[in-house]
Amino acid sequence: MKKQDISGIKALLATKKKIVIVPHKNPDGDAIGSSLGLCQFLLKGNHKVHVITPNDFPSFLKWIPGSDAILKYDSQSRICDALINDADIVFTLDFNAFHRTGDMESVLEESKATKIMIDHHQSPDDYALYTYSDVSMSSTCEMVYHFIDMLGDTNLIDKDIATCLYVGIMTDTGSFRFASTSSTTHHVVANLIERGANNSEIHNHIFDSNSYESLQLLGRALSNLKVIPESRTAYITLSQEELNQFNYKKGDTEGVVNYGLSLDGIILAVIFIEDKQEGIIKISLRSKGNFSVNEMSRAHFNGGGHINAAGGRSHLSLHETVEKFISILPSYNKALNNE
Ligand code: 5GP
Ligand code: MN
Repeated sequence: MKKQDISGIKALLATKKKIVIVPHKNPDGDAIGSSLGLCQFLLKGNHKVHVITPNDFPSFLKWIPGSDAILKYDSQSRICDALINDADIVFTLDFNAFHRTGDMESVLEESKATKIMIDHHQSPDDYALYTYSDVSMSSTCEMVYHFIDMLGDTNLIDKDIATCLYVGIMTDTGSFRFASTSSTTHHVVANLIERGANNSEIHNHIFDSNSYESLQLLGRALSNLKVIPESRTAYITLSQEELNQFNYKKGDTEGVVNYGLSLDGIILAVIFIEDKQEGIIKISLRSKGNFSVNEMSRAHFNGGGHINAAGGRSHLSLHETVEKFISILPSYNKALNNE
């Protein structure tokens, strides 16, 4: 972020402000962690702050400090609209374009508040007065740490803020193993632990909170796993019927796509999940090395994200979506086999 942007934001935050923080729809650990970490930091400056998520978030994130106070747009739209229309500042976190907030798109577009974007996705839109975008960053949580640091306020990071930011760095880096994890990431994490984040406890909260049914669902997903060796690709499907059979709850399929990438020699892993309520197939894509799933998703699946992690959607049936995927794959064989 530019020096003059930091001075501008400092001046803005010098007096008490009404602030709304918004992460993307279907918020993950990074979206929730960064929003709540920033919220609790801003509360220390005596501002009035609300976090509004477009919709609900998985229960494995519901223990995070401050998560009780989150407002959900899909069930509380009137109060949320009023807060956004009245806000002096809207921070948008962990997304690059308003449409990533689903039904919140128009109220955000029309809002007269000063927008501040903090995000690490590719191709950020240009709606914010202050844009802090860095695709090399491991997570938006790491960026919120740097943001607080640039404001000269790391001394204000307490155990709760440290816990929130630790969550998103841990989840977005696959527990510090993805290529986006830098030495700086580890320095930030070390500082967060010094400020009170209990790394082992946080890990248990996120990863050791499976239900029996969610593990059985994982078993089904793994038995549905298919490999296309000539494209160094593995994919998984889960139909709505299968989700129902294992009493699917939000978050139960989080991280399942990564099992495909754990196969020796596999560069591209994809999961296709049927969502009858939304009438779409949700697609998560993960890759290794320079193969860009962001580009693949933008070109074929109405989505995007990062080089090695992207999301998308399809309005075809589950079967047709997989057929489409299999039909486009050969055109990527060269890139996949160059890795
Ligand atoms: P997931 O597969 O977990 O839904 O998404 C993987 C990554 O891609 C996350 O960082 C997520 O925010 C991002 N992502 C998912 N869907 C989209 C999309 O439609 N557009 C963009 N730009 N990013 C997306
Ligand atoms: Mn993120």
